[in-house]
Amino acid sequence: MQKERFEVSALTFEYFGVARKELEAAASLARAAGVDEHRLFRLPDLREAEDIGGSRFGGMPGTYIPGRNGIFYSIAASYAEEIGAGLILGGHNRDDRRAFKDARPVFFRSLERALRLGSRSSRDPVRIGLPLSKMTKASVVGLAAGTGVPLTLTWSCHSDGQEHCWACEGCVSREGAFRKAGVRDPLREAGKIT
Ligand SMILES: [Zn+2]
Repeated sequence: MQKERFEVSALTFEYFGVARKELEAAASLARAAGVDEHRLFRLPDLREAEDIGGSRFGGMPGTYIPGRNGIFYSIAASYAEEIGAGLILGGHNRDDRRAFKDARPVFFRSLERALRLGSRSSRDPVRIGLPLSKMTKASVVGLAAGTGVPLTLTWSCHSDGQEHCWACEGCVSREGAFRKAGVRDPLREAGKIT
């Protein structure tokens, strides 16, 4: 977006139990991209299914958060209105929308309509864009590698160690996506050396 001369700000959510390394990675990537502002929004009481416990969320991944994208994108719309931004971009890919109903394009179209009805400027409403929504996780990795994203700054592990654990769902999914994309993962290589 910056190459296309958009003014870009980034928004990260710190919810219950999110890996500290993931927040640091978001900050590093925002710095590397040279965004105008990187806002950290804290939601310490918002929990993933595995942190809530119980059997209510059977069949959903442990990383499921009830109402996640309704909450995240409503806050993003508030932030957008605050700074005068006209477009919210989300990085959901095709694999995400299979697992989570609130990552499907139809959900975002409906949310966009609701936000338009409630915003100050209904004639110039904020739009939600999902540029990666038709791509698999592997093709997103290929795109990142091809466009010079500093892959060493990224973080996929759900544990909060100094290095990726290469055993959790986040790590396994990352490793599979890099393999399918035929892209060497600099973090995996570093892990093998040590
Ligand atoms: Zn891991």
